[in-house]
Amino acid sequence: MATEADRRARTRSEIAVVVPVFNEAENIEPLVARLTPVLERCASSFSVVFIDDGSRDATLETLRRVNAADPRMTAVSFSRNFGKEIAIAAGLDHADADAVVIMDADLQHPPEVIETFVGKWREGYLNVFGQRVDRDTDSALRRMFARQFYKLFAIFGETPLPAGAGDFRLLDRRAVESLRAMGERARFSKGLYAWIGFKSIGVPFQVAERASGESKFSYRKLTRFALDGIMSFSTLPLKVWSYVGTVVSMFALVMAVYFILQTILYGVDVPGFASIIVSVMFLGGIQLLSLGVLGEYVGRVFAEVKRRPLYLVGERIGVDEDESQSPVPARHRARL
Ligand code: UDP
Ligand code: MG
Repeated sequence: MATEADRRARTRSEIAVVVPVFNEAENIEPLVARLTPVLERCASSFSVVFIDDGSRDATLETLRRVNAADPRMTAVSFSRNFGKEIAIAAGLDHADADAVVIMDADLQHPPEVIETFVGKWREGYLNVFGQRVDRDTDSALRRMFARQFYKLFAIFGETPLPAGAGDFRLLDRRAVESLRAMGERARFSKGLYAWIGFKSIGVPFQVAERASGESKFSYRKLTRFALDGIMSFSTLPLKVWSYVGTVVSMFALVMAVYFILQTILYGVDVPGFASIIVSVMFLGGIQLLSLGVLGEYVGRVFAEVKRRPLYLVGERIGVDEDESQSPVPARHRARL
């Protein structure tokens, strides 16, 4: 009788490519056309797992068509939009291969670079990441936000991020399993890839223009993502208030001594109305700000302790439910 391990060994491909897709109907077929020859050249066997992140356009139908034409193209469709980070996590759960490549669907990540990734992997690197040489394809405002974010992350973050590294990368099975073991909801993948370590190397690549459509990230989504990033890799924003509080109290003490001496020496003066209002508002502002930061962390703790599944699958195309690995990380499974 075939054991679980036998069956896995038979179905496991050498390379699997994970592609999160959100309203990318026009990009899927051009991507498949460019990706397939590359993978045929550099892998002994391969599969592609598209994660349809609750698309509202013809993405799902396109994925069905692509799978009918080539069964190596598989897909998992979410019940709604869960966000790119969660789509990547689902991709890692469903990609059954010795090495997994993660890439965008819009052809901004040139498929040809995968050949270099695979070469590095065969040399023994377990975490091979694409490094964008510039950000010319992003708008000036977005570039400015990105710059400020990475500056902040460098100050606050407890894990250094390699410059220009993003989601376009190859991960060895061991790295994939390490990422799968992290059941957190607020997933800042860039930080997680750096956090797991393993023998890593960067491969520079030029980001292309988006093949079709527009960026699926609004500034609202980006802000949320930036906050998740800082808060899941730093507790400094929580702790900094005790220092601010100490400095403000010391200042208040000095002021008190000054006013007592002034009253003793010169008698009671008509107190300054403006200075009272300013200091009350200043302190009120600081208190609300620190409460807000606390709230952001407590909200994230709340989201984690609820232990909801990371995502819900609506449909699987070319991926058998029993064959795919559990969509819920092991440490959360027992509770369901
Ligand atoms: N994406 C996704 N879910 C989302 C937003 C984006 O799966 O909620 C996918 C999108 O379809 C694309 C990749 O993530 O394949 C990168 O998105 P996009 O090109 O919009 O981001 P940008 O290149 O502007 O950073
Ligand atoms: Mg893009």
